[in-house]
Amino acid sequence: MIEIGSGDGWVQCSAGHRHWGLFGAAGLLVRHRDDADPPGVDRVLLQHRASWSHHGGTWGIPGGARDRGEAARVAALREAAEESSLDTAAVQVLDEFVDDHGGWTYTTVVARTPTAPPVSVRGRESTELRWVRTDRFDELALHPGFATTWPRVRLLGTG
Ligand SMILES: [Zn+2]
Repeated sequence: MIEIGSGDGWVQCSAGHRHWGLFGAAGLLVRHRDDADPPGVDRVLLQHRASWSHHGGTWGIPGGARDRGEAARVAALREAAEESSLDTAAVQVLDEFVDDHGGWTYTTVVARTPTAPPVSVRGRESTELRWVRTDRFDELALHPGFATTWPRVRLLGTG
């Protein structure tokens, strides 16, 4: 069943990629500063994507398709709440970065949270959620979209 206004569906962008989200997609990049970590290093909540999903087995940020007319930050927080036990009420949104592919956009919503307790999986789209130090990202197989975006959003929300 297709809901009215649901963004579920595939789109081909003008670069020829196939993307999920009829009205674009949004992800939540939530950062936490742990005083035990070296200067300049944050922890970011990463999602290990279920094997059946697009680019399954890679690590990215929680997120998904925007509904019709839904603001990117609303979609990012909604998706994060659907996919994890993260307390989104404690999350402060600081910035947004729009990656415009032509005919499709991915908005990275950058936020910060004062605490980083363990986060458990909700739903079927991920197998694990983990706070990962930003200087350890190169040890993980990143989702190709996130790997491209990360250098461009790395300093957003760091004050
Ligand atoms: Zn594209």
